Amino acid sequence: MKALRRFEKAPRAAHIEEVPTPKPGPEQILLKVDHCGICGSDLHAFLNHAGYESVLERVTFGHEVSGTVESIGANVKDWALGDRGVLTAIQYTNPQCPYVLAGDPQLSPTRRVQGLHLNGGMAEYIAVDQQFLNPIPDTLDLRDAALTEPLSVADHCVVNRSSIGPDDQVIVSGPGIIGMLCAIVARHIGAEVLISGTSADEEVRLSTARKIGFETVTVGPDFPPLHEQVMAHFGKEADAFLEASGASPALSASWQAVRTDGTVTVVALYGQETKLDVTQFVRKQIDVRTSYGSATQSYHRAIELLNNGIIPVEKLVKVYDLEDGINAFEEAERQEVLKPLLKC
Ligand SMILES: [Zn+2]
Repeated sequence: MKALRRFEKAPRAAHIEEVPTPKPGPEQILLKVDHCGICGSDLHAFLNHAGYESVLERVTFGHEVSGTVESIGANVKDWALGDRGVLTAIQYTNPQCPYVLAGDPQLSPTRRVQGLHLNGGMAEYIAVDQQFLNPIPDTLDLRDAALTEPLSVADHCVVNRSSIGPDDQVIVSGPGIIGMLCAIVARHIGAEVLISGTSADEEVRLSTARKIGFETVTVGPDFPPLHEQVMAHFGKEADAFLEASGASPALSASWQAVRTDGTVTVVALYGQETKLDVTQFVRKQIDVRTSYGSATQSYHRAIELLNNGIIPVEKLVKVYDLEDGINAFEEAERQEVLKPLLKC
């Protein structure tokens, strides 16, 4: 079968390669991959960025996987040929870990990501441990289902980790796919959302945000500071701030745009240490929270949102053939596309 694989620990050292189709073990399912998304983490691994040293030297990328059951191992229950499902990206390796038992397997210190630490889904087939496959309804398109994982991350951030409720006024900083999905989830629960980005975000990301009904502001050296634009827009400081840009200055300045007793929730990862003037946060009693990955409940809510047509998938994704996958990575690197999906 064809697979998009990294072949050494160096920038852009990945290509399409012919490899044997995996044979599912007794507890595994062989999934015929329909679509697989390219995640920010895949792009970091592709570029061999710092912080991604744990990624295998030789590995098939891809954890945002939808597909159809092709064959099952001898001990697999609850799955039959032709069933449809999506992969759980962050997987536990120790079922007795307290975080796993508490329903937060994504926080387990011995977690792994399929597609970084074992072969993933940018291929025609993927072998999946049965506990890491989530069923999806027949009415959900398999292309749309490939957005389940990033949407579950946004759901976990907004629903489980932020303070956002109906009628809250919210800033989403960073209009990448996670920021955009956070904005959609927050709007869906009744919040009023303003999305901020830089002029580099204008052409693809901010214009897409406006196309799907959001108001946007541009920040950067040539523009007024975000808090002034927020005051002009909402007439007051925001109730909540979601930091999804990964730009340290955005997080450092977040306290200025948030009201006293408001919250800042950080879902981005940063390429360097971030300076925070903590006293400013303390004087406004701003609650700074973080959000990492997602668990089963968020996958279920994401599947429901996709199935109910809440997510304007068509406007967010660009589909490439698997054979064109390296080009998709390069377009993602140049930020020419919001969410690349590979048709496998
Ligand atoms: Zn992802």
